[in-house]
Amino acid sequence: MAENNATIVCVECKERGGDLNIRNRRLCVECFSRYVNSKALKRMESYRFKTLEGDQKRRLLVPLSGGVSSLVLLQVLDTQLQRQIANRNKTAYELIIAHVVLPGQSASAFKDQHLTQLAQRFPSHKFLPSFALATALSFDEAIGEDLKTVGCERHDQESDPDFFHRIISGATSVTTRTDLQSILLQRLLVAIAKAHECESIIWGHSDSRLAALTLADVAKGRGGSVPSTIADGLSPFGVNFNHPLRDLYKTELEIYATTLPEPLMEAMAASDDALLPPTSLRNTAIDTLLTDYINTQGLKYPSIMANVVRTGGKLEIRQTHSLCRLCVQPILNSGNPSPSVSTLCYGCLRIKQDIKP
Ligand SMILES: [Zn+2]
Ligand SMILES: [Zn+2]
Repeated sequence: MAENNATIVCVECKERGGDLNIRNRRLCVECFSRYVNSKALKRMESYRFKTLEGDQKRRLLVPLSGGVSSLVLLQVLDTQLQRQIANRNKTAYELIIAHVVLPGQSASAFKDQHLTQLAQRFPSHKFLPSFALATALSFDEAIGEDLKTVGCERHDQESDPDFFHRIISGATSVTTRTDLQSILLQRLLVAIAKAHECESIIWGHSDSRLAALTLADVAKGRGGSVPSTIADGLSPFGVNFNHPLRDLYKTELEIYATTLPEPLMEAMAASDDALLPPTSLRNTAIDTLLTDYINTQGLKYPSIMANVVRTGGKLEIRQTHSLCRLCVQPILNSGNPSPSVSTLCYGCLRIKQDIKP
């Protein structure tokens, strides 16, 4: 009788209704929110007050793509910092927020107005004006020389956008184009972090995203960069990389974003281009295919996705490896005894073959 109307109770607090089904456990919104925050903050323990020396100021860079993951990351870190202000009237670190506009983002993409709205919503952090991806070509001082190793050389007086356009349109496959863009994006973000004296970049990648990055690296012959792409700690770039959302699935971040008292939906819904179906397989990069695959199939097998990331993270980087000039990742000479010193990794050698600038 009465049982028919009884709601399922949250397994954590055993008080409120367990409206959410999270990894086969019924949770209320409050307990789920605590779950997301504690999973993320457990990965931020190296940035506690305890680890600060004297009156050291610690700055961390958060790249904001406008997708759900980086928005949730910003929300979680902001909540932690607000709590620190309330308890101690100071924070253990400062956040610098950087957004890079990628070429070809559709008209509905994350725009400057979204950035302004977020800066108003999170006023205690420093939001940098958005960067065009082409600014990587001057912001990273070494990149001009490094691009010569794949046959791309700037013409006299050529502007960043013109040079960028020439490089990207010289790529003969979509995968190479995407690969080049992600290398430039990473180098730009590292250059921004260094310019603003940030000791670390805090990435918003979920477990699902890290699995997609791992599989894409392997598929593109970039197995050597897997450990440093997904590991927490000092990266080959000389700044730390951290992934506090690595234990959370993308679907969980989406639920979190929509169940907040003030949902993070608006900016996010406008920017999730990954949800658009690819127009044709031929015009789709490996990265996009794997991301789509994981966002659909991976949902059914989340523990396999978690295994991909865990296994990838266990691969060792041998210290003796030299770093690739372009992507700044270890060069693996798999079984090749030749002592010839290569300046490019296998993945970047393929870029060199696929680009006709
Ligand atoms: Zn509860
Ligand atoms: Zn490389």
